[in-house]
Amino acid sequence: MSNKTSTHNPFTGESIKTYNLHTDVQVESMLQLANDVSKTWRQKPIKERSKLLNKVAKILSDNLETYSELMTAEMGKPIAQSRSEIEKCIFLCDFYRKNADSFLADQIIETDAKESFISYDPLGTILAVMPWNYPFWQVMRFAIPTLTAGNTALLKHASNVTGCALIIEELFEKAGYPKGCFQTLLVNHDQVEQILSDDRVKAVSLTGSEKAGRKIAEIAGRNLKKAVLELGGNNACVVLGDANLEAYLDIMVNARMQNTGQSCIAAKRFIVEASIYDEFLEKFTKKVKSLKHGDPTDDQTDFSVLARADLADILEDQVERSLKKGAKVHFGNERKKAYYQPTIITNVTPNMPIFDEETFGPVAAIIKVKDKAEAYEMVANTRFGLGTMIFTEDFEDATAHVSEIEDGAFFINELVKSDPRLPFGGTKASGYGRELSEEGIMEFVNKKTVYINH
Ligand code: NAP
Repeated sequence: MSNKTSTHNPFTGESIKTYNLHTDVQVESMLQLANDVSKTWRQKPIKERSKLLNKVAKILSDNLETYSELMTAEMGKPIAQSRSEIEKCIFLCDFYRKNADSFLADQIIETDAKESFISYDPLGTILAVMPWNYPFWQVMRFAIPTLTAGNTALLKHASNVTGCALIIEELFEKAGYPKGCFQTLLVNHDQVEQILSDDRVKAVSLTGSEKAGRKIAEIAGRNLKKAVLELGGNNACVVLGDANLEAYLDIMVNARMQNTGQSCIAAKRFIVEASIYDEFLEKFTKKVKSLKHGDPTDDQTDFSVLARADLADILEDQVERSLKKGAKVHFGNERKKAYYQPTIITNVTPNMPIFDEETFGPVAAIIKVKDKAEAYEMVANTRFGLGTMIFTEDFEDATAHVSEIEDGAFFINELVKSDPRLPFGGTKASGYGRELSEEGIMEFVNKKTVYINH
């Protein structure tokens, strides 16, 4: 196995940088440092820890352009979307700076004791294994609540965004976090297994594919460690006959095509009622055709290359296997290296790869259904459980279906999206645990019962 890792610009094809992986000796000293610092960091008052979030936000803001350019170079995200990602991280810092103190305050519970309460203590050192699709946001939404709760963090980021991984480590140091509070590990998969098995690591958070989730959950389970898993999805976007296309069509297109289709919560299966099908398909196609694709460093670009050419290989194979089963190309489906044209596939039915699997790129699978009842049946016909979105003017009827949706999120007349104020996570093959909001900061704390008689 190589002891080096390299980054490449997927748009230009140029190599960016090669890094040496950390040796086992280096990893050992990083683990020890994380463990040592955790003993003093956990003792600091919450207010002192959350105060640093101001500095993190300021550094993000001062370096917005540099960080955005780095993301765009390493994984091809259109630059305007890279900037929005950094802005969202700033909002996240602001949210936990204002709320962490009350989330983590002792909770008094009346019992037979003179005094009894729950104390929310940090667990210690937490490992994060993160994906490349939102190189800053995924790391920050783990790190900000986890560090603020008094834990230390070790990051194993996706290897194609190593530059982002290292600059995030530098950011926390610049913001005044004690050295070792947040460290970036440059390690291979075998080393991840050793690190997670080490007693000094108390828990793990993984955002990534189902395959990686199963592997990490198995190692965590064997070592009796808590895991939060944010995995893949194949969210349904239901368009009922009474949907207001004029108001919501842009949202529907964005739900599939933002981040060049590489989002876990993207709309992957468009389930469209027959009465609006032709109108929807015509307007949706017109809008998809109008997306401006090209150089991701251009401010006007909506849509660019995938993060790596092998991701386009996977997508192409999923589409080809679906076409063999009777699906039809309605628009697009041109592919060159890491570029995959925005694509619309019709005649999609269950048991086709683009219905059953996660498509991690700009392919919209369109499923025609005769009525609302069939639409809800199709929604439920999946192994995944991240989220469902539905477009209808009858929001009262849609709200009446909340309890039958098995996913982690149900959005009516809006795309499924993350927001620091709301919990985020999935069910079934999409994983377990929650990030963001009060729920997220509670994942890596020991909810300790304290009972006092005197
Ligand atoms: P991935 O291939 O699973 O990789 C994710 C991370 O896991 C990377 O750091 C990767 O490292 C590491 N990894 C993979 N296999 C591993 C193993 N056996 N042992 C240790 N580490 C391992 O996923 P990806 O391609 O980066 O990201 C796309 C996937 O993430 C999609 O399925 C998407 O839906 C999911 N995702 C989910 C959410 C959510 O919140 N639910 C959000 C974003 C993305 P290397 O890079 O070194 O292989």
